[in-house]
Amino acid sequence: MARVIIVGAGISGLATAAFLDNVDTLVFESSDSHGGNVRTDRIDGRILDRAANGWLDSEPAMTKLLEKLNLSDQIIPVSERAEIRWIYADGRMQPAPLSPKEMLTTSLIPWWAKLRILLEPFIFRGRKETDETVAQFVSRRLGKWFVDRFVGPMVAGIHAARPESLSLKAAFPKMAAMERDYGSLFRAMFAKKRGGAPSGHLQTLQAGAGQLTDTLAQYLGEGLQCDMPVEGLTQTKEGWVVHTKSGEHLADAVVLACPAPAQAKLMRGLDASVAEALDNIEYAPVTVVVSVWAAGSFDQAPNGFGVLVARGEDVGVLGTLFTSCAFPQQCPEGEIILRTMVGGSVNPKAASLPHEQLLELVFAAQEKFLGTQRADPILVRVYRHAAGIPQYTLGHTTRTATVNAAEAKFPGLFFAGNHLDGIGVKDCVGTGHRIAQNVQGWLEITAPVEQATTETQ
Ligand SMILES: Cc1cc2nc3c(=O)[nH]c(=O)nc-3n(C[C@H](O)[C@H](O)[C@H](O)COP(=O)(O)OP(=O)(O)OC[C@H]3O[C@@H](n4cnc5c(N)ncnc54)[C@H](O)[C@@H]3O)c2cc1C
Repeated sequence: MARVIIVGAGISGLATAAFLDNVDTLVFESSDSHGGNVRTDRIDGRILDRAANGWLDSEPAMTKLLEKLNLSDQIIPVSERAEIRWIYADGRMQPAPLSPKEMLTTSLIPWWAKLRILLEPFIFRGRKETDETVAQFVSRRLGKWFVDRFVGPMVAGIHAARPESLSLKAAFPKMAAMERDYGSLFRAMFAKKRGGAPSGHLQTLQAGAGQLTDTLAQYLGEGLQCDMPVEGLTQTKEGWVVHTKSGEHLADAVVLACPAPAQAKLMRGLDASVAEALDNIEYAPVTVVVSVWAAGSFDQAPNGFGVLVARGEDVGVLGTLFTSCAFPQQCPEGEIILRTMVGGSVNPKAASLPHEQLLELVFAAQEKFLGTQRADPILVRVYRHAAGIPQYTLGHTTRTATVNAAEAKFPGLFFAGNHLDGIGVKDCVGTGHRIAQNVQGWLEITAPVEQATTETQ
């Protein structure tokens, strides 16, 4: 049976492994546990996700994966209580405008800036070949107010990034396509009958997002080896040789599903330009502070999905998710869970503040959102992700093109991971599905190891 080795047991690597059928699959993970950014702690009936707290339900490969793992009946859709999303601006929480009508009636933007928004359908398309930043694109189409009050906070909340450095076509390809195909964002929104809301609904599993990676780990059984960093990769006539502390492992195909810097290290001896492209993908640090409170601990009860902070506000955090509104089953009745995100490219130093200073910053921000704190938290957990989210900065599509081209140059070698085709959990599963199909296709056209040896001699 053909052997495939996967490097990295985050959702990208685990999903790729699960989609491979009739293959001897081995996943090597450097840390002592599987899951990467999809891990959950469960403490006294509370579900605390360390990083990702769900995914959008719009990716068919995710539906397929959940079915394959018999997890479909474990899906928890986001609660209707989480419909409103807030933006903190001018010292108060204001509803985020998600439809063209809301954009024109929102109190986030002054009337003269709304007049500028009305011009959007008449603005010419940008030049197709230009790698524009998100800030340049949105300023051009909707005006700078819209960047500061809406897109800035959204981009910080999703990508932990600044719109001035993010590449539109890499980070928001659908938005670039809206302009290209309809000539206007408003016209596209009307045609698609959808506003600026995310494309899909958030969902998680009964035992938190980590239930997905835990189930994947069970599914793989002995095919998953943790505490086993891959230290080197060599191409030989017999196939690929993967070097670990336990020895050299021969494989017909290898999937690199570890973060870009780890992939760069493994590629350095094989192709300097691919290693350089991977090295040039930057990461932003994100710290998640999860706090559990008794109901009534603030002047105002959290209501809605959560709040993101407009640019120019002196708050110091990216925003807070009202997790107990989005997923009420994640804590006992009568409790509140808040998840506050700190850092990103917006304020990277804040992500590594010492514990006490970090909590001071977070609790002060929460008071700004919800009013005076009347009680101490029941529980606080701090999850630091020093290389949290890859930044799809200008030039990203050129870098990923270089990496993708390496698959043709090195037959049997494949690349996956959140630095390539989308940072969301569902994107990683989508990529995993595509890569698994490519691997399977490669194995079909090549003979098993022994025959391959004969052919290449
Ligand atoms: C704070 C935070 C919140 C987020 N929230 C959401 C959310 O709510 N919804 C959503 O959709 N997405 C969210 N994301 C994004 C999403 O979680 C990630 O993009 C995704 O989980 C990344 O998966 P991955 O497998 O590509 O990478 P990783 O999770 O980074 O996994 C890579 C694995 O490779 C291993 N590895 C590294 N080097 C080696 C080596 N040499 N040998 C073997 N193994 C190695 C690592 O230890 C790691 O386990 C969030 C991310 C962060 C940081």
